[in-house]
Amino acid sequence: MKIKNFFKKIGSFLKRNVYYVILFLCISGIATMIVLASINKTGAPGGNNNIIGNEDDDDDDVGGTPILFLVPVQDYQEGTAFEEVPVFSETLNDWRTHPAIDFKTDGAKEVYACFDGVVHDVYKNFFEGNVVIIKHNDELFSIYKSLSDDVRVQEGATVKKGDLIGYTSDNMNTEHKEGAHLHFEVEYKGDLIDPKSYFETGDK
Ligand SMILES: [Zn+2]
Repeated sequence: MKIKNFFKKIGSFLKRNVYYVILFLCISGIATMIVLASINKTGAPGGNNNIIGNEDDDDDDVGGTPILFLVPVQDYQEGTAFEEVPVFSETLNDWRTHPAIDFKTDGAKEVYACFDGVVHDVYKNFFEGNVVIIKHNDELFSIYKSLSDDVRVQEGATVKKGDLIGYTSDNMNTEHKEGAHLHFEVEYKGDLIDPKSYFETGDK
């Protein structure tokens, strides 16, 4: 009995509001079609491209083979290596990690972009000397510190692997006892990693 009453009530509701019910169904139908159409237009091709692009980027970086860095200084002696365990700093007279490779040079020597990219930042401060940061992709940056004042690139410039970006110097005050050198860092996904893993000639 109760169920019958329920359906009777629905029936009379539909009869009374038939116009609004049909209108509602039409509008929701049209809305659904619009939503589906927009998903097909913008979502499918764009989304697929993005997914494929990201997968490619990840392959490049994680696989480590397609991106090969040029050693940014040609004529150098190895300075302080990449050290995750603290090493003694002569300049600062204490122990600290060294998340970079130092290329020591005999006086000012050319420093080259290690790979294609866009100059992300150029700055100078007392502790690091002149600094150039090159963005290679969303996750990979190369960072050049202890450059002289003769910096050859500006923020926003596009650079190619091997382009001259500046010269080594001893103006990185936290490392000035190393003399003229390039302090070279590689940042991948927000962490400073051993640059050697990207060098063409470097041993992994
Ligand atoms: Zn260093």
